[in-house]
Amino acid sequence: MSQALDAFGRPLRDLRISVTDRCNFRCTYCMPKEVFGHSYRFLDKRELLDFDEITRVARAAVGLGVRKLRLTGGEPLIRRDVEHLIAMLAGLDAEITLTTNASLLPRKAQALKDAGLDRITVSLDAMDDATFRTMNDVDFPVQRVLDGIEAARTVGLPVKVNCVVKRGVNENQIVPMARYFRETGDTLRFIEYMDVGATNGWRMNDVVPAAEIVSLVNAELPIEPADAQYRGEVAKRWRYADGKGEIGIIASVTQPFCGDCTRSRISAEGKLYTCLFAVRGHDLRALVRSGATDEELQARLAEIWKIRGDRYSELRSEATNLDDTPRVEMSYIGG
Ligand code: SAM
Repeated sequence: MSQALDAFGRPLRDLRISVTDRCNFRCTYCMPKEVFGHSYRFLDKRELLDFDEITRVARAAVGLGVRKLRLTGGEPLIRRDVEHLIAMLAGLDAEITLTTNASLLPRKAQALKDAGLDRITVSLDAMDDATFRTMNDVDFPVQRVLDGIEAARTVGLPVKVNCVVKRGVNENQIVPMARYFRETGDTLRFIEYMDVGATNGWRMNDVVPAAEIVSLVNAELPIEPADAQYRGEVAKRWRYADGKGEIGIIASVTQPFCGDCTRSRISAEGKLYTCLFAVRGHDLRALVRSGATDEELQARLAEIWKIRGDRYSELRSEATNLDDTPRVEMSYIGG
């Protein structure tokens, strides 16, 4: 089948696959303990897509033009035998990446690499140990994340580090993060705190705008804008004036990039979302479990993509009263 274009002519290029809605961290801005506590009902095992089902959906998506598959969650490394899934996906004509908090990377890195993972993104929001422990809210130390990054590097997995910046919480970590990863040579990207889901109490005042991140870094470590590497690159790149590396900034709130958005997401229970801020997903699990053929699955995907008109982040900037809209949580849909 030919490549799929949505209502605005955007191609389908990326599929983010959530393999679990569970996580071993309780980051205060993502899975606050008060909501995701003992009484929270996570998905049962049989509600999750199994590896064959995920592979079928991924194969259909690749057939429609997807070039990058990203496993996420929840914490993808707590899904049992996730490396088996990677080995199954590795047979498809797409790059395979994974986003993780790195807590299990020291023992998983080699298996992930051997299974065919191409690269990895690690989330780390602070260099200061006390700040990080407070943010992840399970008292997890920075050093163990750094150990995970080191393990990935050692087995030959290129690493990107993502840092979400929240006003009054970790903006003082921007420069220390930049300094540290300038030395290691890992790509560092700062992400504006987004209004995903409904449980994190997001307010515009919590966002540290990209322009401010740039000026904070620039004051200590001079940077200049770098050209995008490809159309639709989400992170705006800035290189250090002395030539030693670069940083990226993902400004989804203050500089939305819906016009170039080629991403879709599938939740762990098989609902397809065509926008991170979508209200409703399309149930692919029902289709898969009803005995649909691969052709039928691909045709359904194409149909969903064709009518896609989402551009939430641009609308957010045009209107101010979208706050009441129900939205899915980041931990459910995957970052
Ligand atoms: N557990 C994995 C991890 O820690 O990377 C994967 C899932 S996590 C939901 C993916 C990413 O989403 C993390 O980098 C996290 O910081 C980010 N994230 C969660 N909530 C966010 C928000 N409101 N705004 C921006 N990024 C957010």
